[in-house]
Parts: sequence; C-alpha cells; structure tokens
Amino acid sequence: MKIISKPYIILRRDWNARNPTDKMNYLSKINYLVIHHTTFNGDNKIGEYAKEAVLDIQKYHMSKKYDNQGNLIKNKWADIGYHYLISMDGQIFQGRDINFQGAHAYGLNDKSIGIALLGNFSHKELYPSQMRSLVHLLALLKQKYSTPSTNIIGHRDVINLNPDGTITECPGIALYSQLSMIRSSVENLLSS
Ligand SMILES: [Zn+2]
Repeated sequence: MKIISKPYIILRRDWNARNPTDKMNYLSKINYLVIHHTTFNGDNKIGEYAKEAVLDIQKYHMSKKYDNQGNLIKNKWADIGYHYLISMDGQIFQGRDINFQGAHAYGLNDKSIGIALLGNFSHKELYPSQMRSLVHLLALLKQKYSTPSTNIIGHRDVINLNPDGTITECPGIALYSQLSMIRSSVENLLSS
C-alpha cells in the first residue's frame, strides 16, 4: 500500500484557537470518519477569511445557545467540536486535538473523527480544491486507523448506528450524494 503524505495542516495557533476550557475524554478505538458541513458558518470563506470562520465556529461551540423563549438549547463545549475543518479553497485546519473525543456526532463521538466542510452543501457540491483536500485527508486517516471505506459516513448516518443519534440533514443532500464517489477516490488514492 502506498504511503500517503501528510497534507499541509493549519495548526491551532495559526488560527488563534482558544485553549480548551474543560477536560475532555480520550478517544477509544477510532472506527468511523464522520463528514459534516458547517452550513452558514464558513460558507464562501476562503483565504484568510477561512481562519476567521474557523475561530467563529470555535467560539460558537464554546458558548451556550438559547432559543427565543430563553430556553437553553445548547450547552457550551470544552473546545471546537470537529477534529478537522476544510475551507472551500482546500485549506485544512486542525480542530480539536485528535487524542480527544469530539462533539460532532452524538452517539458516536467516542469512536469517530469529525471532519467539517466549510459551507452549505444542501444544494451545491464540494469545490474541486475542497474535494482534493478531503480525499487526501480521508486517505491519510483511513490508512492510519485502518478504517473500512464503508465507515466513512455522513453525520446523518449516525442515527442508523445508534438510535441516540440526532436526526439531521448534515452534511447536506448534495454532499451526501457525493459520498460513494468520495470513498472510491480515497481507495484509488491509496492503491495508486
Ligand atoms: Zn454534522
């Protein structure tokens, strides 16, 4: 099997990440690679603006969220929920430390890595440079953790593995429909 080179990854210090505010649980065995989209947050953000978008997502994840009636709908998390984020121009950002469980796929956080694509892919497909970075990163992780291709899944698939999962459209209909092609591209990269 070909050894996959490590892609260039923008480290936390380079996007001015906040330090985690709380203890986090260690990941157990990594069995799944879970794909997300970030919807409005990070849509059309490229270049330096993508760094700001990643920081905004971290701030959002680390704060409480209330509905119109003042009911708490999301508690604050210790850190950004995803392990990796990829902007539309293909920049890969380091999210939560890979040693720790993320907060991205309720019911599967203890054994998965969360990868978020910046943007809203309900109707549009991934951009070519974003796709290249995703396939490269997935190949690296698949090789490192011996993840079966069928375990490269969308957030919306989690509920089929664990009924405690969340009903969600994530990672968007258009991106979700690209998943089988993404799995094939990852396999091709690993076998080429
Ligand atoms: Zn998601």
